Amino acid sequence: MTTPRPCDWLGVPDGHPFGLQTLPYGSFSDARHPARRRAGVAIGDRVLDLTAATERLLPGRAAEFGTGALDAFLAAGDAAWSQVRSALVRWLSEEPFRDAIEDLLVPADAVTMHLPFTVADYVDFYASEQHATNVGAIMRPGGEPLTPNWRHLPIGYHGRAGTIVVSGTPIRRPCGQARPSGADRPVYRACARLDFEAELGFVVGVPSALGEPVSAAGFAEHVFGVCLVNDWSARDIQGWESMPLGPFLGKSFGTTVSPWIVPLAALEQARIRPPSLDTDLVGYLAAAGDWGLDIDFEVRINGHVVSRPPYATMHWSPAQMLAHLTVNGASLRTGDLFASGTVSGPRPDQYGSLLELADAGRRPLNLPDGTTRGWLQDGDEVVIAASAAGPDGLRVGLGEARGQIVPALAVGP
Ligand code: CA
Repeated sequence: MTTPRPCDWLGVPDGHPFGLQTLPYGSFSDARHPARRRAGVAIGDRVLDLTAATERLLPGRAAEFGTGALDAFLAAGDAAWSQVRSALVRWLSEEPFRDAIEDLLVPADAVTMHLPFTVADYVDFYASEQHATNVGAIMRPGGEPLTPNWRHLPIGYHGRAGTIVVSGTPIRRPCGQARPSGADRPVYRACARLDFEAELGFVVGVPSALGEPVSAAGFAEHVFGVCLVNDWSARDIQGWESMPLGPFLGKSFGTTVSPWIVPLAALEQARIRPPSLDTDLVGYLAAAGDWGLDIDFEVRINGHVVSRPPYATMHWSPAQMLAHLTVNGASLRTGDLFASGTVSGPRPDQYGSLLELADAGRRPLNLPDGTTRGWLQDGDEVVIAASAAGPDGLRVGLGEARGQIVPALAVGP
């Protein structure tokens, strides 16, 4: 199948990551109407006002974009998702629609992007074998790096949905308890080991009933699409608090997501077989389909590329994650977000966190400005960007998740 070309008048350069092969959804406002949020679709370097476009050209679906957030559209399910995507391809590839949509396009650099949907529950997994192995080796030196359960289930924890923020939102360095090495009691201080984690997020559209597991085969029925996630991590707070329970305040101070949600429909050519399917699994994880994804990540600190993690190496697929997180009957809500866990490939320049890249501060990274980073400093800006294999040799852009560290508030008594 050949992907239609955008109309010439749109001026989308050949091979643009936001061509018709992508069509990601977001929520924006602009200077003319700063208080009025609208749903948008990225095409090239512009944003189509989808709230207005559906009112004009697809009134049967317009109510789903009326608030400017994607919530109602996410809940509407695959028939609506397919209908809107097909309509967008027509509007943007067929000349006669020019008069109807040209005045609804605004330059992407002139809009403010907002959190695209109301985040319901947030779960973070731990699906990269390389990441789990690296972290195990750092945390349990001399021991077996992978815990005995790791190859049998996708390990995860529930995070804090209310502190998920859209790309560009500053991240304040958290304060908390930590026990300095060699000390016998903790101190309360600004985090001294601030880190990022490059991850892929999966956005749930269609809810499920309490008490009824969702099978892996139901993945594409319930999950609308993907975004990029930076799971900011305070390693010193995390290390002291997680004995024996899992991540808590070391993670919950902020999680950045990209503003554009790329629908699963754009990722058909990126699908690959995940390594876990070739292992001995219990039934609900074994019949999971090929939902591994060939997505190339890039992590930049202050503009300098520090890592290129390959998502294709992830052990567990998102269909397995979904089946696992509902296998006890836990229900899904529209707006649930589950993230993959840090994406780390086998090579040291493919690790998805500073913890791994700088070996827990022991081998700081050299940046081009002559400075080094064992951990993030105030003022550092971390950008996670990615693109996926697409049709006809094109790349499907996932955009970027950007965040800058601002100093901690003064530490009180
Ligand atoms: Ca994580």
